[in-house]
Formats: sequence, structure tokens, C-alpha cells
Amino acid sequence: MMRPIGQMQAEILDAMPLLDEVRVDFGDAIGSVLSRPVDARENLPGFDNAAVDGFAVISSDVTQTPVELDVIDDIAAGCLPSVPVIPGTASRIMTGAPVPAGSDAIVPVEDVEIAGENRVRILVPGRPGDNIRPAGGSVREGDRVFDAGLRLEATHVSVLASMGIRPLVRRRPVVAIMSTGDELVPPSTAVLDPGLIRDSNRTLVKGRLAELGAEVLDLGIVPDDAGAFGSALDEAVAHADAIITSGGVSMGAYDVVKMTLRERGTVEFLRVAMQPGKPLGFGAVDGVPFFGLPGNPVSVFVSFEQFVRPAILAMMGADRLFRDRVPGVLDDGVTTNPEKTVFIRVATGRNADGVWHAHQSGGQSSNVLSALAFADALAVVPVGAGRVDPGGAVELEMMRWPEAKNREEALGAR
Ligand code: AMP
Ligand code: MG
Repeated sequence: MMRPIGQMQAEILDAMPLLDEVRVDFGDAIGSVLSRPVDARENLPGFDNAAVDGFAVISSDVTQTPVELDVIDDIAAGCLPSVPVIPGTASRIMTGAPVPAGSDAIVPVEDVEIAGENRVRILVPGRPGDNIRPAGGSVREGDRVFDAGLRLEATHVSVLASMGIRPLVRRRPVVAIMSTGDELVPPSTAVLDPGLIRDSNRTLVKGRLAELGAEVLDLGIVPDDAGAFGSALDEAVAHADAIITSGGVSMGAYDVVKMTLRERGTVEFLRVAMQPGKPLGFGAVDGVPFFGLPGNPVSVFVSFEQFVRPAILAMMGADRLFRDRVPGVLDDGVTTNPEKTVFIRVATGRNADGVWHAHQSGGQSSNVLSALAFADALAVVPVGAGRVDPGGAVELEMMRWPEAKNREEALGAR
């Protein structure tokens, strides 16, 4: 019996442990996931301040303009006012400087004329609150700023920085990776001996893990030999929070991963109702979550997307584990196996009508690596469908959002 993909994903997520909490510096926080909600400990901004360079006034002084006022102070950002504003006076003030007592409006410098030494002519009427950023206007003390489970980006961390809050996050997982196969040689190999291929899976998995903020323990290429694989596993379970292998999980005579793990760990070798990526080993070795991905690079790619990525995010405590899907149109149709969820590697673009269009980014057979590089999305053909006609509707699981094409085209549209 093939396992439905959704059931497999749920089983994996249920089995993932949550990593410990750590407090991190702002610079290290990007890519980590908040383990606790963040509440503001103070108002932001902390004090009423000027939103423009100009003159702090009493608004009732400037309802009729032009009107002249005495300039009594000069307040730079980072400085405190030395005197309050009283009727008939104004204080010169810079953006970000504290609003002096008595003042309830800032007149922008563009709306005044200098009327002599320490004299200013206000040309445009002002109203209470004009150009003042009130204390707490951005965040109020006690406000919930972020929920637990948020994956921090630079923007979030800048908000934390503005509040002086070093966040509590979950530790980054250490993920051991290895490629199995007697046919594999390092990617740096210039000339291949007959029958050998370069190991491309490790580069892919490593890169994807780095994008998730995981730390990689790279155990290299492991030959199809039980002893060598056993030693690599020892190293992995000693240091890693999760283990990912590629190759050796199908029906072949030398499938060392499958053979070794019959006697060690609690790894199940399954067939998932999906294409590519049908064979999958999942379970634990000495308590460490284990993913035995197939050897085909395209299968590795899709299995990583569907199983490993959500699992790693779950360990990190993320509340959003799956890439979003958008409705789209598959310009070139496909025929698929109706018993499986089929993931078509597609390049995407949005037409003038606003509709997402996709076409196959290359050959869809599971050894065509180049099609991965051009794929922005996986078009998902569900179990039971069996086909998508040219121009038919599909769900697009977006892996990246295409950038604007080139400078001329992008700027021409603006
Ligand atoms: P396997 O699952 O070990 O039978 O491998 C399936 C196919 O994927 C074979 O054609 C392998 O040569 C190929 N393959 C396995 N591992 C890798 C790898 N690390 N990089 C590129 N191709 C691989
Ligand atoms: Mg193999």
C-alpha cells in the first residue's frame, strides 16, 4: 500500500522533537524562530518627537498666517529642549528631537520664512498634533509585538533591535547529511572514470538546509558498504539533531541504507503515493530523526521540499511549515499517474491579466536535474486527476517568487 502524501507529512511532523530555547544576539537572530511571544516593555517611540525639520509652536498661535514668532531654542536630535514654548514663541527643531513642553505642533521648515535673527514668519496654518510622532505611536508598552513561531527576517529583527529585546529562539538544528553510492565522486572531479557520476545531491541538500538556517554536518560520500555506512551513522547520531541520506532506499541489490537500517534504529522504508519521490525511509536512529531520501536528484529535491523542509521548520518551532500555493494555469498540459500526487517542476510568470502561468521547466523524468534549476514552483496534480489539459487549472506551490525580468522592462512599467 502506498502512503498518501498528506498522511506521511503528518506522521513526520508528529515525530519531530522541538529544539531547546536560546537567547541570541540581533545579528544571529535572522532565520531563527521565536520560541516565546514578544511583548513591548516600553513605548515606541519613547517620547513625542518631531516628524520633520521645522519649528515647534503652539497651534493656536498659528491658526491665522502669516504670523511672526520669536525663536527661543534650537533642539537637535539627541538633545533635550532647554525651555518650554510659550505663546508668541517657537523652537527650531530637527527630525527625531523631543517636542518641547508647551508645543503641540511642528511647522515644517518649508512653510516658514526667516524674519530676522531669532524671528520666524509662519506662512501656513498649523493644527494640534501636526508633524508630531506621539510616544507609543508605533508600539505601546505591553503590546504583543510578535507571536511565538515567527521565523525572523531582517525586518522583524530590526523591530526587536529598536526595542532592545534580544529574542528567545529555538536553537538551529545540526543536520548530518551524506550521499551513498559507489558510483559517486566529489563534484570537483574534473574527468569522470567510466560509470561514475558527480555527487550533486549533497550540494542541493546542503544549500536548502542553509536557506532554512540549519547547521550542516557534512559526512560526505559514503560507499555502498555496511561498515562505512555504519560508521557514518555513528558520527551522525553523536552530533546531529537529524540525519539525511540520499540513495540506497529502493529495491536494488546494493541498497546499503535500507539493508543496514533493518538491524539498527526504527526506520520504516515506505512507498509514498507521489511522483517523484516514491521511496522514502523515515524513522529514528538512536533517537535521532532519520530521512532516507531516494538517490535520484529530482526525487531528492521534491522529497526534501515535501518532507524535510517542514520537519526542520517544525523542529525550529515555526508556526508556518509549508510553502504557499496559488491557483494558476499550466500552459503545457501533462498526463500523470492518477494514483499519485504528481509534482511537475515548472517555471512561472504572471501575465498582464494577473493570472499565474506555468510551463514545465524541462524534462520531467526523475534524472533530469537541469529542470530543477529553472523551476520556481511545483505544479501539484492531485491523486485521481490523471491529467491537466493545456491551459488547465493547477495549484502552484511557489518555491520562489520570480524577480522582475530586467532593468528596462522593470523600469518601463514604473
Ligand atoms: P539509488 O537510489 O541509490 O539507487 O540511486 C538512484 C539514482 O540516483 C542512481 O542513478 C544514482 O546514480 C543516482 N544518485 C544517487 N545518489 C546521487 C547523488 N548523490 N548525486 C547524483 N545522483 C545520485
Ligand atoms: Mg545507490
